[in-house]
Amino acid sequence: MESAKEEFDDKIKIIFLPFVSTSHIIPMVDIARVFAVHGVDVTIIASPVAASLFQSSVDRDSSRGRSIRTHVVKFPAAEVGLPDGVETFNADTAPDMIAKIAKGLQLLEKEIDKLFEELEADCIVTDMFYPWTANAAARLGIPRLILLVGSYLAHSALHSVKTYGPHKDIESDHTNDKFALPGLPHHLEMTRLQLPDWLRKPNGYTYLMETIRDSERRSYGAVFDSFYELEGEYQDHYKKAMGTKSWSLGPVSMWVNQDAADKAARGHAKVEQRGKEQEEEYGWLKWLNSKPESSVLYVSFGSMSKFPSSQLFEIAQALEDSGHDFMWVVKKKDDEDGTFLEEFEKRVKASNKGYLIWGWAPQLLILENPAIGGIVTHCGWNTIMESVNAGLAMVTWPMFAEQFFNEKLLVDVLKIGVAVGVKEWRKWQEFGEEVVKKDKIVNAIGLLMGDGEESVEMRRRARELSDAAKRAIEVGGSSHNNVLDLIQELKSLKLDRANRN
Ligand code: UDP
Repeated sequence: MESAKEEFDDKIKIIFLPFVSTSHIIPMVDIARVFAVHGVDVTIIASPVAASLFQSSVDRDSSRGRSIRTHVVKFPAAEVGLPDGVETFNADTAPDMIAKIAKGLQLLEKEIDKLFEELEADCIVTDMFYPWTANAAARLGIPRLILLVGSYLAHSALHSVKTYGPHKDIESDHTNDKFALPGLPHHLEMTRLQLPDWLRKPNGYTYLMETIRDSERRSYGAVFDSFYELEGEYQDHYKKAMGTKSWSLGPVSMWVNQDAADKAARGHAKVEQRGKEQEEEYGWLKWLNSKPESSVLYVSFGSMSKFPSSQLFEIAQALEDSGHDFMWVVKKKDDEDGTFLEEFEKRVKASNKGYLIWGWAPQLLILENPAIGGIVTHCGWNTIMESVNAGLAMVTWPMFAEQFFNEKLLVDVLKIGVAVGVKEWRKWQEFGEEVVKKDKIVNAIGLLMGDGEESVEMRRRARELSDAAKRAIEVGGSSHNNVLDLIQELKSLKLDRANRN
């Protein structure tokens, strides 16, 4: 025994396997980089397109002396009838490609499973959408940590709905009747229509989510990009309800993306490494820098969503009517008739009231600009964490996935969000029926950016949370301690394995 310990190399190797959508890749890669900062040997497995979204950060970390690399596996596009290069989910993914991408991922399972063994992983950290990796880890006798994207509140709420079925007491989707989410630390209410469709009524996705739930229980534990001071009650609740271990490690983005090059390149292949001076040339930055502190509203709906023209009209009118300067991230193909957004852009450019960003915005850099005073968000968890980091209150406009639960955290628990009042959950690749009217948007923006006591208090709370976020990742902070504890635990497990063999 003693000699095994003497020879024991306690550096641990962790393999990270991100899912193939931007908002799942981003936190997984940031978590991997946090581990590399703390002396862990890190390999991230990804297909070429997924890897292109983060390779520059990995290269920079590697040149900073960290033990981190990407292992690229070829995506079997031809075998599943996809054109070359289509291997990730984003706003452009056509509905008929979804099943094909899923099939391609399935074909890769054997190869990745073998890699876990060949690369001698001491632990795997894999996305929730790879439930099969729980079995792979069990076979190898190593721990699997599952990355659950979203808030602890959202995953606690999911558990509550699955366990107690409170929505079943409501007779039909088409009512405004609310039900409470049983067993949670706060009294939180929703309507049936705000629940994901697969929770309301079983469909193909329900089975996948059940499999994920099962693998969550069979994993060594779950990691979240969250922090204790943000939603500690829900972190405790989640662990108790699931009976599993869990660590909050965030805000991971703030932790590893400290310089401008990391911030600018994050999550997007086409943005090259650039220094601060070069950034000054960018129009968006010049425009923001010309605006007073906290005066600009940032409007973004994430990497996956899209709107019909009818909704774009309402947003555009609301932004003009709100009286606040704004920066709005729009997608080329949002503009169905091809002219509306361009005309709008010309108008707001002339009045100097607004700035449109087409396609991909360097969101981390924008949110930290002192001119930004608030954000309209679809409640994607990454955007929420980034806004909290930046100390910004939010107008909440949830759409799909677990976003309606995240809205509850912002509006009802933390009280740093103003609900625009969305009534209906929809699939990410569909428009849904609902069009949120201009007046509701103007009202919510008014509360977010206004001078009334409620607004001022809300923004103060948001700034306090930003301070708490910074403390969480400092030495002695909650997330910092969690990372060190988790690494220590993984080292002990490695030693146990070494002693057993
Ligand atoms: N993002 C960005 N620029 C964009 C759109 C998105 O940098 O134009 C980033 C954003 O900072 C966040 C992620 O992409 O980190 C989106 O994740 P989120 O969970 O907010 O939403 P989703 O894309 O899943 O809807």
